[in-house]
Amino acid sequence: MANITNEFKFIELPTLLCLGADMLNSLPEIIDRLSLGSKALLITDDFLRLRIGKEVEDILSDSENHSVYTSTIQDSTLDEVDKQLRIHEETQPDFVIGLGGGKPIDIAKSVAFKSNQRFISIPTIASHDGVASSRASIIGSNKRHSIQALPPIAVVADTKILDKSPYKFTAAGCGDIIAKKTAIKDWLLSHRLKNEPISEYSIALSDMTVQLITKNADLIKSQAEGYSRIVVKALISSSLAMCVAGSSRPGSGSEHMFSHALDSFAEKPALHGEQCALGTIMMAYLHDLDWENIKSVMSNLGLSTRAKDFGLKDEEIIQALEIAHTIRPQRFTILGKDGLTHEAAVNIASVTGVIS
Ligand SMILES: [Zn+2]
Repeated sequence: MANITNEFKFIELPTLLCLGADMLNSLPEIIDRLSLGSKALLITDDFLRLRIGKEVEDILSDSENHSVYTSTIQDSTLDEVDKQLRIHEETQPDFVIGLGGGKPIDIAKSVAFKSNQRFISIPTIASHDGVASSRASIIGSNKRHSIQALPPIAVVADTKILDKSPYKFTAAGCGDIIAKKTAIKDWLLSHRLKNEPISEYSIALSDMTVQLITKNADLIKSQAEGYSRIVVKALISSSLAMCVAGSSRPGSGSEHMFSHALDSFAEKPALHGEQCALGTIMMAYLHDLDWENIKSVMSNLGLSTRAKDFGLKDEEIIQALEIAHTIRPQRFTILGKDGLTHEAAVNIASVTGVIS
């Protein structure tokens, strides 16, 4: 019989999840419903500022009691967080909005957390599951860190914007979801071998996202109107699974360590979700899962299963496999403490067809 624990635990979740066509127009109503105040600091990048940023500015300026100051970022570094904190100090907003792909949302998340304020996440691409999570991915002196913050108070996912984003990003988002398959297995393995606590609720939620993407692969690939809704729904659910767990455990295992390893040295890393998907095929092989089925789901989604199609070299894949276990040593996975030997790394990458 399982033990009942009375461990004290907080679960922080977003309050409003807003998903649909033209959702951006509801921004003033969303802000008022959450009593966030009137002054927003909008954090985005130079490319988006001229496009969707301008639209957000117009929507807020046209509404009666809202104003916005827009600030653009160059990268998702600790220096950039400090720069945006100074702008926050000067402009004294009531709340923060992050508009963009990963970087502006990660920076907005960190700035809001450090300023003790809430933030609204407006994703413009559906490429990863950080859109509604409580963790921000920030680059330190030479390494990427996953920093604890708060989840957004609202996620505003406008499917008209997301439908129009290049499909490559959406396919990468699907890759980040497929990765949950091995992330869950790693967590369960650590539970059995190391007695690490698990959350069945979180695992069920994370597993559901893989099913959602697998079941709707054809529809997603067809890019029919509103198709991005399915992907963003899965990404938000994955974020929620991480909020429930209080860590990225349900969404990030050995396949993510492989991807982070590539980021640390590859000449030209591919998208996060693309790398995680390749990692999933190979970690599934190690877990003795049906890795061929995972490959066929990826193909159904129009996501390549070969490293070279993402501009990654064979030797980079092998090196990443060899060092993946050192990326986050405190997180136990199928890679164990010692990782793979060179020969084993060559073997799993070749057998699974990730390298040729
Ligand atoms: Zn991920």
